[in-house]
Amino acid sequence: MILVLVGPPGAGKGTQAKLLCARFGIPQISTGDMLREAKRSGTLEKRYLDIMDSGGLLPDEAVIGLIDRRTAEPDCRGGFLLDGFPRTVPQADALDALLVGQGSGIEAVIQLDVPRSLLEERLIHRRTDKRSGQIYHLVYNPPPPGAELEHRADDRPEAVGKRLDAYEAMTAALLPFYEQKGLLRRVDGVGTPEEVTQRVMSALGRPGSGGE
Ligand code: AMP
Repeated sequence: MILVLVGPPGAGKGTQAKLLCARFGIPQISTGDMLREAKRSGTLEKRYLDIMDSGGLLPDEAVIGLIDRRTAEPDCRGGFLLDGFPRTVPQADALDALLVGQGSGIEAVIQLDVPRSLLEERLIHRRTDKRSGQIYHLVYNPPPPGAELEHRADDRPEAVGKRLDAYEAMTAALLPFYEQKGLLRRVDGVGTPEEVTQRVMSALGRPGSGGE
């Protein structure tokens, strides 16, 4: 089971990825999380750090290398879910080549659809508790007192617009690539996390197996 989750920043990709991975018993591979981890541990090259913080995309070779190494690990043998990769057609080509080499292939590409105005509102108010990793919305899902809150540098208003523009430019090329292969499944991403998961399960042809 190899799944690709595509969606603009703030669409709930991370939340859906966790729910789906738990259901299918596969690991979540998020290039954004891997890069943030490298940033925290001080191993991310300075030029990449600057690109990330301003909301730009890293060069394809940098992220393809990450995916090459991660998917070769033993826990990926039964499949995996990609979150935030591929973002460009060259990345999608590299992924295809990698999977052909492993004798496997993508089962489906799930696109979470959320209107831009809602995304901006979600991202600008998004905060993460540094200790637990829990994500909050300052208005709709406020953090408890005492939470140690972090506002991602790229969730600041000046970077948010750039990231959403980058996503729109990306989907213009990437989604037709997967649509032509018959792999694309569009899912309405507005609703509670559980509602969206149900829609994803239906789109994967597994309705009814998404309930707790
Ligand atoms: P994300 O959490 O997926 O929004 O990723 C955060 C940032 O990491 C992005 O804004 C990019 O700077 C970088 N990044 C993550 N995945 C990729 C990718 N597939 N290609 C290029 N840059 C990426």
